[in-house]
Formats: sequence, C-alpha cells, structure tokens
Amino acid sequence: MKKEVLKIAIQKSGRLNEKSLELLKECGISINNGGKLISSSTNFPLEVFYLRDDDIPQYVAEGVADIGMLGENEVLEKDQKVEVIAKLDFSKCRLSLAVRREENYTDLSWFRGKKIATSYPLILKKFLREEAIDAEVETIGGSVEIAPGIGLSDGIFDIVSTGSTLLANGLKEVEVVLQSQAVLIGNPNLLSEKRSIVEKLLFRIQAAKSAKRNKYILLNAPNKNLDAIINLLPGMRSPTVMPLAEEGWSSLHSVIGEDDFWEVIDQLKDRGAEGILVCPIEKMIV
Ligand code: ATP
Ligand code: ZN
Repeated sequence: MKKEVLKIAIQKSGRLNEKSLELLKECGISINNGGKLISSSTNFPLEVFYLRDDDIPQYVAEGVADIGMLGENEVLEKDQKVEVIAKLDFSKCRLSLAVRREENYTDLSWFRGKKIATSYPLILKKFLREEAIDAEVETIGGSVEIAPGIGLSDGIFDIVSTGSTLLANGLKEVEVVLQSQAVLIGNPNLLSEKRSIVEKLLFRIQAAKSAKRNKYILLNAPNKNLDAIINLLPGMRSPTVMPLAEEGWSSLHSVIGEDDFWEVIDQLKDRGAEGILVCPIEKMIV
C-alpha cells in the first residue's frame, strides 16, 4: 500500500516564509529545499509546496494541498471552504482603517460617502455592511498607504503592525477592524490517514508553541519561605524541590510563563529566592 504523504502549502517568499519553515524545523521536520516549487521531508510524511499566500486558500480548498500556513487576514479575504486548524502565534498584525492625519475624525460615520482604498475588499465590505456605513471601496493591489496622498481615496484599510508606514505617509489609524496572526488551515474533507498525520504535526506544533511561551526556572530558596515560593511557581504539576548541601536551603525547579515572568521574579526575590536561573525550553509536552 502506498504510504500517505501530507501536502502543506507555505508562502514561497515574503514575511511568512521564514517563520513557517522555522516552525517546521522546531517540529523536528527536516526539509531538503533547493528553492524548488515542491520539496519533501526526509523524516516526516510531508511534502512542502511553495506558493503565493493569496493562492493558498484556493489550493487547500481544491485539495491540491491538504493544509497550509498563512495569515488569517488572507484566509478571511479569500473566503474559501477551508477550516482553521490552529493559530500559530506568529506574524501578528491588525487590519485597520486610517485617514489623513489632519482629518477631523470623530467616529465611523466619518466614512459615510467616502472612498476607501484597500487590498482587502471582502473583509472591508463585510465590516461596512455590519456597521451600516455606506462608503465606496476602491480595490488596489498594493501600496495602499499612498492612495490618500495622491487623491485616489479619502481613507485606507490595510495591514498595520507598528504603524510606522502610516506615519511615514501622513496617515493616522482610526479603527481596528481585525486582529490577525498566522494560522494552519486544512481541507475539510481529508481522509483519515492524512488526518492522523495532521494530528501528529499539530501535537508537535503545540509542543513548540508551549516551549516558546514558557521558561525553565531554577533557584535557591530558604526553607522557611518554600511554601510561598511554590505558590508563585506552580509549574506543570508542581515544582521539584531538592535540599541544598547547606542546612535550611533548597533548590527549586519549575516552569514559568513568559508573560508573567518579570512580575514573579520580583516577588520571588522579595521572598528570599537567590541564584535564579532562567533557561529556554526546547520542547514542552503538557
Ligand atoms: P505574496 O507574494 O506571497 O502574495 P504578500 O506581499 O501578499 O506576499 P507579505 O507582505 O509577505 O505578503 O505578508 C504576508 C502576511 O504576513 C500578511 O498576509 C499578514 O498576515 C502578515 N503581515 C503582513 N504585514 C505584516 C507586518 N507588518 N507585521 C506582521 N505581519 C504582517
Ligand atoms: Zn499575498
């Protein structure tokens, strides 16, 4: 019987390409790539297709590829029959409305009767419909941010990450319409053999994602404060505590979330913790 291979579409070049390949690598998947259109993994039943991100939803919906990695914004804009399997925590950005800095913007009603330039007409039209704003949508392929400056439109609807592009073009962000990040999408009709490969991949992706969000922490603590310190560091089940050679002290090992890291560190110090080491985690199976 022929062994099933899962076909994944990723961006050929651009913002998502490197991060997508990096995630596969973190999942322990080696890919031999000579800059070709298709390459296969040497140690996982995976074949990688390199495509323009705009084409990925259609290829996945039609079953040319089984799954794909791309921005949620592009998935929503293309509106193809695909399912979002997982959020991938990278390439975070937002889709926003922006107007010229000198405009006296009050609220959404400002856009009534105005012209908005965008490369995301579907998402924008849906939003305007929901908000009952009657505005004209001008679809353009790229460089949307220059449209108001050259008199093509009154406002724009585009991707923003830091806002520096808007600033450089004399624009200000006035409404955030959508938060986006890279996602894994799949064809809804995958056969069970392929589904089980997706499950395997997903398991590895979750392990890589959890590892990134957490750190391994080691510290020395006075025994009298151990309970308070353990409360601060619940870890995966509970922390490991080992006696130090010095009477009255213990070494404690645990896992700490990246987000509450600095706050907890201060509280640990307040409770007499010393010699705090924080190390990256490569994989984390919870
Ligand atoms: P392609 O040639 O494949 O069509 P593209 O020009 O459409 O590429 P990129 O600019 O590489 O796309 O962006 C790909 C995706 O990365 C976007 O759809 C979005 O999800 C995300 N993205 C875009 N700009 C940013 C940004 N400034 N910060 C973070 N993520 C972004
Ligand atoms: Zn694109």
